[in-house]
Amino acid sequence: MASMSPATTQLKRRLGAVVRTDRRSLWEASFDSSKLSFLPEAVVRPRKREDIGVVLTLANRLRVPVTVRGRGTTLTGAAVPLHGGWVIDLLGLRRLRIDAEAGLAYVQAGATNAVVRAAAEAEGWFYPPDPSSDKYCTIGGNIACNAGGMHGGKYGVTRDYVLALKGYLPTGEWVEWGTATKKFSAGFNLRDLWIGSEGMLGIVTDAVLKLIPLPPVRWTLLTSFADEVTALHAARELFAARVQPAICEYLDRYSVQCAERATGRSVFEGQAGRPVILLELAGGAGEVAGQKRVLLDWARRNTVAFREARDRAAAEELWSVRRKCSGAMFELGDAKLNEDIAIPMRQYERFARFLDALRRKSGLPIPTFGHLADGNLHVNIMYHRADPAECRAAEAAVVRLMETVVALGGTISGEHGIGLAKTPFLRLQHSKAEVNAMLAVKRALDPRGILNPGKMFDVFQVWKHPRVDVHLPWDH
Ligand SMILES: Cc1cc2nc3c(=O)[nH]c(=O)nc-3n(C[C@H](O)[C@H](O)[C@H](O)COP(=O)(O)OP(=O)(O)OC[C@H]3O[C@@H](n4cnc5c(N)ncnc54)[C@H](O)[C@@H]3O)c2cc1C
Repeated sequence: MASMSPATTQLKRRLGAVVRTDRRSLWEASFDSSKLSFLPEAVVRPRKREDIGVVLTLANRLRVPVTVRGRGTTLTGAAVPLHGGWVIDLLGLRRLRIDAEAGLAYVQAGATNAVVRAAAEAEGWFYPPDPSSDKYCTIGGNIACNAGGMHGGKYGVTRDYVLALKGYLPTGEWVEWGTATKKFSAGFNLRDLWIGSEGMLGIVTDAVLKLIPLPPVRWTLLTSFADEVTALHAARELFAARVQPAICEYLDRYSVQCAERATGRSVFEGQAGRPVILLELAGGAGEVAGQKRVLLDWARRNTVAFREARDRAAAEELWSVRRKCSGAMFELGDAKLNEDIAIPMRQYERFARFLDALRRKSGLPIPTFGHLADGNLHVNIMYHRADPAECRAAEAAVVRLMETVVALGGTISGEHGIGLAKTPFLRLQHSKAEVNAMLAVKRALDPRGILNPGKMFDVFQVWKHPRVDVHLPWDH
């Protein structure tokens, strides 16, 4: 084992066994889902919140970088300890209590998203933010990235459900933002500043989350279209008709083909290889019945075929196809630039035509799927790492993609955040004044720059860096 630095020796003296310096702990904390890897010097697994304050106070005094992590599912490199130092792993802080009367969840940061949702549902309540990584990712990570999911269009994202946060400023001072009330107007809203701050402005230890009544009725419809432009145009028509599907998932023909090759089955019997939109209505019986009538009329006019799920098991079968398509893409290349852009609805058809042109120009497969009710599309640029021409084509394609998204009035990230992966594009999205304002906030809250340094603002070109060859539980 490498000898410990004086700073880590001091940390170990203060906190004892919660500080790990064995090779396995350091290795496991060195990467996240981006598979970029940078070794820390120590991993702290706090048993109580106060341990975090001790780590931060010491880190400020000794100028040691600190990176906090939940499950490490982020795809952007936000959780890797780029400059070494200490990692705080929050998985051990996972207490959870549902207030079934008020419809609130009191959670610690390390609680898993799916566990919180299941506990709420057991009491007849619904916590809608549902990233596809829900079985693994933590509420702390969701708050830090402002995670969204399939329910975003109708119900909103993590930010819309956070009432209060507790935790530590980068300086090691304890703070509480907001209360367990649905209204709070006392002072600057630093709660919302923490949401989406990617572990750079503070460490969340506890949150109070708002729940909504669990919709009693759900109804699922699979629709198939002649081509992508028709599908996207039809989706706009549906929203204009004031239909608000709880879920509206789109898979272009390339994503459908990947899922079909991976499962050996047609996504839609008789319509192999066509783009699809998978819709779910949710709500009270009357609301769902009314929207169902409009939806079926829309489907008759716009689709080449549609099929409703007979029951929840049949609906679940449809959803399983959607979940498989992302992993199935690795047959097209061993590397993926997985972008999570969002564009305004009025640009849907233009964007589909742009993607066709990008595929032709780059010569790369670019399967695309996503959440049509909020414009958040996952554009997957697939290439082979060992092929220099494909690497160059992928790099050029992602730059072109981001420039186009911003020109269309969209965002370079709808849900994953910036981390390291999107740093080359932050200044496409934000002006100098905007970036300077963000940096001023960072300096004000983290004067020594110890919390998650090197992220968001320093340009890092992920495609030029090696990745570790590990298989994570959530890699399909
Ligand atoms: C298969 C797969 C599917 C995904 N699907 C989605 C999706 O549908 N929607 C979506 O939004 N994202 C998705 N993601 C991305 C990722 O799961 C989310 O960003 C998630 O919120 C990260 O949670 P985590 O616990 O893994 O956080 P980590 O990856 O450990 O950390 C992410 C960031 O949060 C910070 N952080 C973590 N905990 C705290 C804390 N307590 N206080 C302060 N900062 C903290 C870290 O420093 C880091 O910057 C997906 C990822 C994978 C691998």
